[in-house]
Amino acid sequence: MELTALKEQDAQYIAGTYGRMDLVIEEGQGAQCRGSGGELVDFSSGIGVNALGYSNPDWVQAVKNQLDTLSHASNLYYTAPQTALAKALCRRTGMKKVFFGNSGAEANECAIKCARKYGMDHYGADHNEIVTLTNSFHGRTIATLAATGQDAFHKNFGPFPAGFRYAAAGDVGDLRSKISDNTCAILVECIQGEGGVVPLTAEFLAAVSQICRERDILLITDEIQTGVGRTGRFLCGEYFDLKPDIVTLAKGLGGGLPIGACLMGEKTSDTLGKGDHGSTFGGNPVVCAGALEVLRAMDDAFLAEVARKGAHLVERMSAMEGVTGITGRGMMLGVSLCEGLVAADIVAACIQRGLILLTAKEKIRLLPPLNIPDSDIETGLAVLEAVLKEKSAALSASHGGKQ
Ligand SMILES: *Cc1c(COP(=O)(O)O)cnc(C)c1O
Repeated sequence: MELTALKEQDAQYIAGTYGRMDLVIEEGQGAQCRGSGGELVDFSSGIGVNALGYSNPDWVQAVKNQLDTLSHASNLYYTAPQTALAKALCRRTGMKKVFFGNSGAEANECAIKCARKYGMDHYGADHNEIVTLTNSFHGRTIATLAATGQDAFHKNFGPFPAGFRYAAAGDVGDLRSKISDNTCAILVECIQGEGGVVPLTAEFLAAVSQICRERDILLITDEIQTGVGRTGRFLCGEYFDLKPDIVTLAKGLGGGLPIGACLMGEKTSDTLGKGDHGSTFGGNPVVCAGALEVLRAMDDAFLAEVARKGAHLVERMSAMEGVTGITGRGMMLGVSLCEGLVAADIVAACIQRGLILLTAKEKIRLLPPLNIPDSDIETGLAVLEAVLKEKSAALSASHGGKQ
């Protein structure tokens, strides 16, 4: 179906929650897809989901094999792929136990429940406050919206659950002032993704760790966007030697199928007991088989390639017209632009020319498939370079030629 017709029916039948770009994606293979206007290179991976690209053959085979064997079974019973995935995740991260849900928000819901129960078990019913950071993003459910430290998300849907306090990201003094005798956990993203690809500093993360250790406050790292190889390590926290008590994963973990995982460490591995939490679909064997294939692909050589390609992207884009700075790590990158250049306009122009990019706040954001071939990187960079050049030229012309 062509774009115009699909847009019309979408407007008629789909809840109007998304501001979509003028693009129908029809098929994809690797880092390329075919859209309504032709072939595109994809630097977005469906927002960090297609870690191995579209329809990676090994991943497809693993999923198909599992579909032929067992498509779904309830969590009332044991299924081997779920256990195998949990074991692989624990071995990879040093965490002890896993709860599976179906999305990032669900992974964070589990983390919040686990932290509150830990606080209650050890220090009593009032010990339930969670400190999160300003400009964070933790999901769209009511509790994870409350955890999200951005006022824009706290409209229209109240009342929100109590027990969340927000500390200024990067400000240790403010963080200390938001901690009380009732704080059970601090929840952070090592690099704030939706907040604009804003990394926390090593010093701040070290201070967070220290405060958590001193006061038996749980450290929860939301690695839903940064995790599963995205930054060049399996977890971004590894760069900072973080020893989180709870880690949440989603996006790239499933390789394209919906999954969320809440990983629990030494302190929290036995906090949730029978009946404390559950999910009908969570840990579905087909989804877990896909995720296992993602983990299998992600050896040290693979991660080194993510880091190498990320460094190359930074080097090339830093030299482009209109670019004032680049944040992020590995292949999670945010590109700041000169005043007058609008990220959304550039992303729209790139889509017309065959490159899919994302925005994050006022930046262009890149989350390419982690195994993107070098040739696709060059094709995409050439599009971005040309668009930036044109938009920069148009901008200086509109300023009467002044720079
Ligand atoms: C995407 C994201 C979420 C929410 O994940 P959903 O699967 O959309 O529920 C939570 N936290 C972070 C850091 C994210 O990037």
